[in-house]
Amino acid sequence: MSTYDVAVIGSGPGGYVAAIRCAQLGMKTAIIEKYNTLGGTCLNVGCIPSKALLDSSHHYEEAIKHFEDHGIEIPGDVKINFKKMIDRKASVVEQTTKGIDFLMNKNKIDVLTGVGSFKDETHIVVSSEDGDKTIEAKNTIIATGSKPATLPFIEIDKERIITSTEALTLKEIPKHMIVIGGGVIGLELGQVYRRLGAEVSVVEYMDRIIPTMDKGQSKELTKVMKKQGVKFYTSHKVSAVERNKDEVTITATDKKDKEVTFKGDYCLVSVGRRPYTDGLKADNAGVKVNEKGQIEVNDHLQTNIKNIYAIGDVIRGAMLAHKAEEEGVLVAEILAGQKPHINYNLIPSVVYTWPEVASVGKTEEQLKEDKVEYKSGQFPMRALGRSRASGDTDGFIKILADKETDEVLGVHMVGARAADLIAEGVTAMEFRASAEDIASMSHAHPTYAEAVKEAALAATENRPIHS
Ligand code: FAD
Ligand code: NAD
Repeated sequence: MSTYDVAVIGSGPGGYVAAIRCAQLGMKTAIIEKYNTLGGTCLNVGCIPSKALLDSSHHYEEAIKHFEDHGIEIPGDVKINFKKMIDRKASVVEQTTKGIDFLMNKNKIDVLTGVGSFKDETHIVVSSEDGDKTIEAKNTIIATGSKPATLPFIEIDKERIITSTEALTLKEIPKHMIVIGGGVIGLELGQVYRRLGAEVSVVEYMDRIIPTMDKGQSKELTKVMKKQGVKFYTSHKVSAVERNKDEVTITATDKKDKEVTFKGDYCLVSVGRRPYTDGLKADNAGVKVNEKGQIEVNDHLQTNIKNIYAIGDVIRGAMLAHKAEEEGVLVAEILAGQKPHINYNLIPSVVYTWPEVASVGKTEEQLKEDKVEYKSGQFPMRALGRSRASGDTDGFIKILADKETDEVLGVHMVGARAADLIAEGVTAMEFRASAEDIASMSHAHPTYAEAVKEAALAATENRPIHS
């Protein structure tokens, strides 16, 4: 029987990063993955393929709507070869997952293909078509991730009533896609299909889209996406989803309790994801799973069984690839006797629509709730020379700072390349910078990052230069 210092179950961004860090720290490591490709949700059916389709559809939209503004004329019609777009996405996924094979090899990590299940606290059975194989592991890291959630009355048929997984491999562009849930997946994939010509209706239970982000961001993104032709039905509670051949009917009640129906050819269900522990047989090791289906962990990400840890989407907290990665590193370093730390307040969130939406730290709503006195500085992207040069004038950057100390408490943005710009907010907050610190740093001109400086100037002394 093979024996390991660490066995990692699941090869998503949590699992594969944990495995690499364990190997770097000198531990004999195995990674168990039930699928034939490594990389988990993120690389196979999540972050990477969704961003590939967002980029392809963005290029198309630029070509049909904005090239002309730049004096670029295309003789004849611009056409979509949807199959090629989907094939390109598949090849991006393939290259990326192959990169993980390379990294496993480089770090001498044993890759075991099959479903991993606990036999007891130190033995894991790996089951595949070739039979069962048992390994012994001094420590185990559970990184089994998540799967799409649904509503009790919805049957996902994977053809017309679909989740993000199927939405990434459709064979045709929908005529009318009804999206249930105006969160990250609904908006990213809704925008992809809107750009490709589908009618898109987003039905959201809460009174605003991306309800966990700052209210100002919801408002701005709603405005921009409405301009792009997406229809929003907020404060709508979906009560039924039915399919009749190629037609899907969604029934919902609006805030006045009036019944509304939507008819389309596809319904994307994007109401969140659930932690995934099917087939893991956690109870054989005595590992506690809570009522939400999450593996319970303490601050060191240790389960109730001392040699078993859990990370990523299968535990509490944001379901984000970079959060899972940080947790993978943290557990590996704990196992090596180090004392690592994660500041969960500084895990940024991004929605990769265009304009992008990005946040770190506290929202205005959270600060009000926590009764923290704060000041806010906001700068519109349209006031930047860089934005006018590119034509990306939607959005703003907002900096929230402590009223007394000026320490930055939150950075919230909507705009071109916000996903990359948010790193400045994370860095500033990690070093506990004040708004004045950011305001007094030189930002290259002309860049979108100048809006960060201007927002900081607005927060510090309400003295932005360009607005
Ligand atoms: P996962 O990536 O879910 O990996 C878990 C792995 O464990 C899977 O490969 C699974 O097959 C395997 N597994 C499960 N049980 C077993 C078992 N018993 N034995 C063996 N293997 C097992 N996050 C971002 O930060 N940025 C984004 O842009 C982003 N975009 C997304 C887009 C979409 C459409 C989706 C669905 C998600 C997106 N996410 C994004 C979320 C991100 O994918 C997850 O937060 C991340 O993948 C979680 O990593 P993980 O390692 O915890 O789990
Ligand atoms: P989400 O939690 O972001 O959004 C779900 C939305 O559905 C919410 O707005 C919620 O109010 C709404 N909702 C819930 N029940 C509803 C109902 N009955 N009727 C109508 N609306 C309802 O979840 P998601 O978009 O499915 O994404 C799942 C996870 O994947 C998220 O946690 C997210 O972090 C991760 N993800 C991240 C990215 C990214 O980082 N860019 C991209 C995609 C997915």
